[in-house]
Amino acid sequence: MKLAVFSTKKWVRDAFSEKKPDPINLTFFEARLDEETAPLAAGFDSVCVFVNDTVNARVIDVLAEGGVKTIALRCAGFNNIDLNRAQEKGIKVCRVPAYSPYAVAEYAMGLILTLNRKFHRAHSRVREGNFSLDGLLGFDLHGKTVGIIGTGKIGQVFMDVISGFGVRILAYDKFPSDSAKAKGAEYVDLETLYRESDIITLHCPLTHETYHLINDYAIKAMKKGVMLINTSRGPLINSNAVINGLKSGIVGYVGLDVYEEEGDLFFEDLSDQVIQDDTFVRLQTFPNVLITSHQAFFTKEAIDNIRDTTYTNLNEIEKTGSCENMVSGVIRKS
Ligand code: NAD
Repeated sequence: MKLAVFSTKKWVRDAFSEKKPDPINLTFFEARLDEETAPLAAGFDSVCVFVNDTVNARVIDVLAEGGVKTIALRCAGFNNIDLNRAQEKGIKVCRVPAYSPYAVAEYAMGLILTLNRKFHRAHSRVREGNFSLDGLLGFDLHGKTVGIIGTGKIGQVFMDVISGFGVRILAYDKFPSDSAKAKGAEYVDLETLYRESDIITLHCPLTHETYHLINDYAIKAMKKGVMLINTSRGPLINSNAVINGLKSGIVGYVGLDVYEEEGDLFFEDLSDQVIQDDTFVRLQTFPNVLITSHQAFFTKEAIDNIRDTTYTNLNEIEKTGSCENMVSGVIRKS
């Protein structure tokens, strides 16, 4: 099987080259898959893509013309794929539904602690010989209320992690789960979660229902000084609404591992370039905002699982025409 792996960095090449099954021939492309680069996939049986590749209808048409039969996502979310078009073109799509919920949940906890106790600012100060504590005041997590939106795999591991701090846990999910309740989550409606939470962390997928879930209206309903954490998908948050919330003081802290326009920025070294995204630059000016470049998943265990599940998916599809991690769309009538 000829597999074209897009959006590859050194860590992807290293992981996928190690333990490669014999029947798979790998070609790595550093470029993202998009309308411009899709012709590169001509002659390959499968393509492997990541969170910021663009796999819209036009890209899928080019892939189909080039003979591609399978799109293997090496991530859980599939919001960047036009599943209906893939199905219409007979292209199978598979994903890695879980590679390490621990990696993302632990990272969300890290963002909370860093924003609260300001490790990043303290570290820079001490290195420069400034041992003052002014501006570094934090708060006890103990006794605070934490609202979790999305209580699936990552949301529930996050509950386990934060439970040790002695917090009250509120939860909202379209499909509440008994196991989350057993972990002590109190399911409430979104208005209650917004009104009562000191910290709100997002662990739901990006869908048409959750796009800009955190908007002006939601922020106005929140507790003054709330901490917002997003390790899920950037477009769950309307960045301009958050900027307004930060300016008014309703939003007290923001921790983002994802950003709605991250595709033009994240995973690249742009340190000698002028960043054109004014919203992103504005966000960076707030002392109480911490942004990282979509790295919550980035642990050794997660990368090994991503590689192993991707190869298992492709092997199963090659042998049986299907695999347990397929995702599918709905064929349009006309
Ligand atoms: P999951 O499918 O196990 O859980 C998602 C939960 O969200 C489910 O309980 C589901 O019922 C709920 N949900 C669905 N629609 C909802 C809605 N409209 N409102 C509220 N809840 C809703 O997924 P997971 O493995 O826990 O991952 C969660 C998200 O984390 C993924 O969708 C992905 O976007 C993101 N993620 C980010 C990284 C990273 O590196 N930053 C890594 C992995 C996953």
